[in-house]
Amino acid sequence: MSAEISRPKQVLIAGGGIGGIATALALQRQGIESVVFERASQLRDGGAGLHIWTNGMLALDYLGVADQVAKIAPAQSVCHFTTSTGRIIGKYPVGRFVERYGQPTVAIGRSDLHGILRDAVTVPIVTGAEVTGYTEHADGVSLHFADGTSEEGDLLIGADGVRSAIRGQLLGPQPPDYTGYIAWRGHAKMTPEEFPPGTFQALFGPGNRFTYYDIAPGVVHWMSVANGPAGGRDEGTPEQTLNMLRARHAGWTAPVENILDATTPESILRGDVVDRRPDSVWGQGRVTLLGDAAHAVSFNIGQGACLAIEDALVLAGHLAAPGATVTRALRAYEAERQERTRPMQLLAHRIGAIGALQNPAAIWLRDRVLKLVWNRTFHTAEHEHVAYATRWASGTAANAT
Ligand SMILES: Cc1cc2nc3c(=O)[nH]c(=O)nc-3n(C[C@H](O)[C@H](O)[C@H](O)COP(=O)(O)OP(=O)(O)OC[C@H]3O[C@@H](n4cnc5c(N)ncnc54)[C@H](O)[C@@H]3O)c2cc1C
Repeated sequence: MSAEISRPKQVLIAGGGIGGIATALALQRQGIESVVFERASQLRDGGAGLHIWTNGMLALDYLGVADQVAKIAPAQSVCHFTTSTGRIIGKYPVGRFVERYGQPTVAIGRSDLHGILRDAVTVPIVTGAEVTGYTEHADGVSLHFADGTSEEGDLLIGADGVRSAIRGQLLGPQPPDYTGYIAWRGHAKMTPEEFPPGTFQALFGPGNRFTYYDIAPGVVHWMSVANGPAGGRDEGTPEQTLNMLRARHAGWTAPVENILDATTPESILRGDVVDRRPDSVWGQGRVTLLGDAAHAVSFNIGQGACLAIEDALVLAGHLAAPGATVTRALRAYEAERQERTRPMQLLAHRIGAIGALQNPAAIWLRDRVLKLVWNRTFHTAEHEHVAYATRWASGTAANAT
């Protein structure tokens, strides 16, 4: 039986991605000390782009960094969903969120967001620290590293991503599920005349998709998604990979081919897309999971990083609540966040499956059904996904529902 303490003195965080760093910042805001252990030798996130929906921005605002994000991240005005030939399936007028909730939906380079969070954190972030497992004691947790050393803390948060070592020890070695499709991502340099700022577009073809949006003035981030077996790699040069993608999207509606023509081949990243089914257990004793380690959600709703930031706020809130004990706070956090993340994981998986359809009759039906249910779906997404975060808002946003 654990000897419980009410307010933790030292929190161990495994993983220095967006979730881990946001957690350190959320704890810092509550006056709780933590230390982050990151496997990579340098603290930086990948070169890709992220959509940060208004709920993510409200959470970032609570952490005190939304203004910095908004300064460099283009606000999105409308998300278009079309067929590969440009026939409109539906539109999300996301630009209106700023009036309703007080924060825009933005797009930003992943490393830019990571950098803003990291610069706001004052607690130690130890790099080159590969976590291998933990041991729980009556009054704390020892975190073990690949070099044979250990660190002690009152509790442990596994924010070490979709292939989390902490999760592996807690729940057993379960690899994530391969969705059946692969994502290629890259950056193109385009002027505002060539690419209207604040535009997000997702185009659905047979068994493949293309999405694009601007993540900084003159920088367009794109993603090409295609069905295929897991574990493949692109042989040849980055230029050859780009040519393969040009061939895949030849004849797609403008500006797809222009974006690929303006792409720096070396910016292209390839990755198998994985996710997980919702789990009902995220922790035990003084250990819990957060972000992708807890609820890996595919990119299809653009919410994985936003949810990780929300997790951080909820977890820090429970740990700082008057009279809370560590284990009660962790279980309360898990229960609250599972209710939020479970439907999002399932929705993202379903959208991915719909996007991966290859059969022409199924695609014909998909495009028409989506068009019919579009307005209701958007209304639901706004109220269920975005409005949730008004709990952290002040002023106009606090009154929006
Ligand atoms: C193609 C794609 C597009 C996406 N688009 C969006 C989007 O538009 N909007 C959005 O909100 N989300 C998006 N996401 C999801 C988002 O990227 C993730 O949900 C988010 O990065 C999760 O953050 P995390 O900190 O939990 O995990 P990660 O970002 O994976 O960070 C985990 C960290 O832990 C470290 N680590 C791993 N193992 C160890 C170990 N053993 N010891 C120490 N450190 C370790 C890693 O090096 C890493 O730094 C997208 C994802 C993909 C793949």
